[in-house]
Amino acid sequence: MAKDLVCGMDVDPATAKHTAQFEGKTYYFCAPGCKKAFEADPRRYVGSS
Ligand SMILES: [Zn+2]
Repeated sequence: MAKDLVCGMDVDPATAKHTAQFEGKTYYFCAPGCKKAFEADPRRYVGSS
């Protein structure tokens, strides 16, 4: 399972319809709104680690 970093839900990468690329990694989201929020400010969700 992957984690939707915006809302905290678990997302199955095999069926996820909403994905975004950031710094070479793929992130998965439960809904278009979560993807949009992530893309607007990815660092806020990814963190600095
Ligand atoms: Zn979500």
